[in-house]
Amino acid sequence: MFESGESTQASAAITAARDAFARLGRELGNATRIDLIRALVELKSSCAAAQAVLTADLSTDRRAEHAAAGVPTAQRGRGVAAEIGLARRESPKRGSQFLGLANVLVHEMPHTLALLRSGHLNEWRAMLLVRETACLSKADRARVDRDLCGRPERLEGMGDAKIIAAARAAAAELDVAAVVRRNARAVADRHVSVRPAPDTMSYVSALLPVKEGVSVYAALRRDADTVIAAGDERSRAQIMADLLVERVTGQASATSAPTAVNVVISDHALFGDGDEPAHVVGYGPIPAAIARDWIKNAAAEEDSPETVQLRRVYAHPGSGALTAMESKSRCFPKPLARLIDIRDRVCRTPWCGAPIRHRDHIEPHEAGGATAVDNGAGLCEACNHAKQAPGWSSRPEHRTPAARHRYSFTTPTGHNFTSTAPPLPKPYPLGIEIYTPTEQILVDFLACN
Ligand SMILES: [Zn+2]
Repeated sequence: MFESGESTQASAAITAARDAFARLGRELGNATRIDLIRALVELKSSCAAAQAVLTADLSTDRRAEHAAAGVPTAQRGRGVAAEIGLARRESPKRGSQFLGLANVLVHEMPHTLALLRSGHLNEWRAMLLVRETACLSKADRARVDRDLCGRPERLEGMGDAKIIAAARAAAAELDVAAVVRRNARAVADRHVSVRPAPDTMSYVSALLPVKEGVSVYAALRRDADTVIAAGDERSRAQIMADLLVERVTGQASATSAPTAVNVVISDHALFGDGDEPAHVVGYGPIPAAIARDWIKNAAAEEDSPETVQLRRVYAHPGSGALTAMESKSRCFPKPLARLIDIRDRVCRTPWCGAPIRHRDHIEPHEAGGATAVDNGAGLCEACNHAKQAPGWSSRPEHRTPAARHRYSFTTPTGHNFTSTAPPLPKPYPLGIEIYTPTEQILVDFLACN
C-alpha cells in the first residue's frame, strides 16, 4: 500500500532488483560467484539499514499522531511494534525488538547505521553493538559508536565474539557503574520456561544467577550419587531428572505428580484406532497412541478421580451447546475462555505464537461485541495492547459451524490481515453414538468448530 509517486518508484526498483536476482544465470565463474555472494550480503545489510530508517520514521510519526489525538504519553506509540512485526511477517515480540534496534540506530548510533548501510556490519552485529551499549548514557553510547564505527577499518575482520568484547571493553572503560547496574538487571530477568522437545519430551529451563544455577545442579548430582550408592539401577541422569520433578512438585515420586493436562483428541483416535495426533494444550501434538495410554492409565488409577485431571475435549460439529453459549458478562466466563484457549492454542496474531494471556473481544464490548466464542480470540498480552491502539479495527467472520473460526483485522495503515484458528482433530462422522465417559476421568465434553 504505497502512497506517493516517490514510494511507487522505490517499490518498482525493489521489484526490479528481485526479478534480476531470480534471473541470475548459473553459468558463472567461481570468482564471480564469490563476488556476488559478498555483494548480496552487503545488499542485505543495506536493506536492513533502510528498514531501520523506515521503522524509526514510522514510529516518530505514529507518536506525533497519538500526541495530537490526545493519547496519554505512556500509551503513545502503542501498536507500532505489532505493525512492524506484521510487515516483517514476524511476531510482535520480534517487531518490538526491531523497533528498539531501529530507534537506537537512527537516533543514537549514526556511525553504526552508516556501517550497516555500507555493508560493513550485518544486522545481527549492529544489534550486538546496540545491546552491549544499552547500559550507557546517550553521550557515552555516542562515543562508543564513534570510536568503534567511525571508520570501517576498525571492525574489519571482527566476528561476533570480538565485536561483543570490543563493545563491552569500551562500555566498561567509560562507565563501570553502568556495567554493574546492568548485571543487577540481568539478575532481575531470572525465570523458568518450558518448550517442546522431540519424542513427546519437554525442556524445562531456568535462567538463574550463576551461583544458584550451579548449586541446583550440584545438589541434584550429589543426591543422585547417594541414591546410586544405595543400589538404584537408574542412570545418574535419570535420577537427577526424577529428583528435580519430585522436589519441584512436592511429590513422593516423580511418576505420581498430578497430571493437569488438557488433551484434545478425536473420538476416532480415542475409541477407535485413529492415528490423528492428539493436541496437548500448551505443548503441541503428541501421537494418538501415547494419548490413549495416558487416558487408559489414568482410568486404571485406584485413587480418587481428583488425582486424574486429564481433560478430554471433543471436536463435534453435531452438538452446538457450548459454541452457542452467550454471556452478558464483559469477561469471558471460564468455560468459554477454556474453549477459546483450546480452539486457538496460541496467540491468534499471524506469526506471533506467544502463549494466550487474554481472551479478547474481536468486536469490542463497548461497540456491542458479544461475549461469545465467535467474537472471542486468544491473544498474548502484547497483541491485546496493540489492538487497542488508535487506528486498529477487527471483526469476526460469520461462517458455517463446520468452518474453522476466522476473523480479520486492519492496522492503522489500512493493511488487512486474517487469522484462522488451527484445525482440531477430526471427529467421527455425525450420528455415531460413541461417547462413554469413563468414571475415573474428569471428562469435559465441549463442542468445538
Ligand atoms: Zn501475540
